[in-house]
Amino acid sequence: MTYDDQNIFARILRNELPAIKVYEDEYVLAFMDIMPQADGHTLVIPKTPAVTLLDLPPDAAAYTIQIVQKIAKAIEKALGAEGIVLMQLSGTAAGQTVPHVHFHLIPSSVHELGKHAAQLGDQEKIKTLAEKIKAAL
Ligand code: AMP
Repeated sequence: MTYDDQNIFARILRNELPAIKVYEDEYVLAFMDIMPQADGHTLVIPKTPAVTLLDLPPDAAAYTIQIVQKIAKAIEKALGAEGIVLMQLSGTAAGQTVPHVHFHLIPSSVHELGKHAAQLGDQEKIKTLAEKIKAAL
């Protein structure tokens, strides 16, 4: 699938748009979702330009999932999350809204998830949660 390098996450990766970051290295960025479906909703993205999981080279996918696990552990520790939903939408038909592959970590239950990307969260509260997650890494 053709990659649009003007998509929101590509612009966040180039620091053209702000994000509340919790982790960054050479290959991956993790930051807070702006419209969280639960407190602590975090996104993990590879820096590789790929639209969906299906476009992502296997080595980048393998590394990204290691960081997904690392962030999930930090969310569990920082927020006392008893369960974390890992969600990955590939394709607009699946509900994907941002065309750069990303993994959602949502400390919630599948039975309690709200409407997807529906409401802007309280940014100050999100910053506080991000600090807690960072401290637990
Ligand atoms: P998806 O529908 O799987 O593509 O998810 C995209 C996610 O990105 C949604 O949960 C949005 O709330 C989130 N999102 C959109 N714009 C931003 C942004 N500027 N910063 C952080 N998260 C965002």
